[in-house]
Parts: sequence; structure tokens; C-alpha cells
Amino acid sequence: MPRPSEVYLFNSHELPRRAGEMKEYSIDITVPEPVGIDVIAVLAGEDVHLELRLESVTEGVLVSADLSAIADGECMRCLEPIELDIDRRIQELYRYEPQKAHTKAERKRARQEADDLDDDDDLMMEGDIINLEIPIRDAIVLDLPINPLCAPDCPGLCAGCGVRWSALAPDHIHEVIDPRWAGLGAVHGLDQDDEPNGNLSQM
Ligand SMILES: [Zn+2]
Ligand SMILES: [Zn+2]
Repeated sequence: MPRPSEVYLFNSHELPRRAGEMKEYSIDITVPEPVGIDVIAVLAGEDVHLELRLESVTEGVLVSADLSAIADGECMRCLEPIELDIDRRIQELYRYEPQKAHTKAERKRARQEADDLDDDDDLMMEGDIINLEIPIRDAIVLDLPINPLCAPDCPGLCAGCGVRWSALAPDHIHEVIDPRWAGLGAVHGLDQDDEPNGNLSQM
């Protein structure tokens, strides 16, 4: 079994390390675990499609990609399942590993030094390997709404019965009977025939 994150590794060995060289790929990555936020995410087993372009530049490889995927979640108001198309552009520079290091230990030390110098968001290649996990995760999470809705004007659920408003009649209401009068009504017998909402007591 490969480690889950291995699906995000892309081998760039076909790309010559000469500034100006370029390669394009069309790839699908089947994500091994959900990518997104609690309420909406690209689910495990779903594909993330990438139109990938690798360009050799002096410091490393410039990675651009058009990412597309489908996220699944539920409407925050009415809890209906929703699907969301994700379309996002990624662009990241992956730096080459430091050159003069020959042994593994030297490479590790050099990489650590580079890590200390560089910003946290700088990405580095491991040999020819480009790890796409962070930019893919970031792109998807940034494209997802914090409060996903099935429609911008989703009316949500009726507070009285918990049924979706979209499934209820437009004149749906709940009779709010003041408990003090409810007792009185029982005594005197409220006139049921004049009440248009009598059938709602089933809900
Ligand atoms: Zn909704
Ligand atoms: Zn109701």
C-alpha cells in the first residue's frame, strides 16, 4: 500500500533542466482521503483533474495547473446534498534541491538550511519529484464556500416542523397557540371548520 500522499507525487524526469524547456500533461489524481472542509469536500475516491504545465526556470520548475474537481457536501440551511464544481488555477515554483550536496546527509543538511532561509510557502523538489499535495489542497479549500448553500436564496427549514421550505406549501404556517388560551379553547371547543391550517397538525 502506498502512503496516501504518494498519489500527489509527480515525476518530472522528462523535463530537461534547461531554462525555457516545457512539458504539458493531463492527469487525474484519485484522492485517498477527503480534500476540503468539514461541510464540503472532494470525497475520497474522487478524481482531481489537472491540466499540468511544467516549465524549467533557473531556480527550479514552475508548475502551473488548471485544476477541476467536484466537491460534495450539504446545504447549511436545508441539509440537502449539494455538488460544487471546482475550477482553480495553481501556480507554484518548486526549487531544485541544493546542488553541491552528494551524500544523503549533505542533502538533508542543505535542505534544512534552505528551509530555514526560505519562506514557509516555498516548495522544493525532491530529486525529480514534485509533490503537488499542498497546492492542490490549498486550491480546493480556497475555492470552497465556508457556508455552502443549495441556492443563494435557500429558505432553509421551517422552524416549526423542520421540513424544507421548498417542499412546503407557500401558505404553510404553524398555529401558535398561547398555552394560556389553549386550555380555554379546549373548554369552549375552537371552531375547527374555519381553520385553513387544520391539516398541518399531521406534520
Ligand atoms: Zn438549501
Ligand atoms: Zn412547518
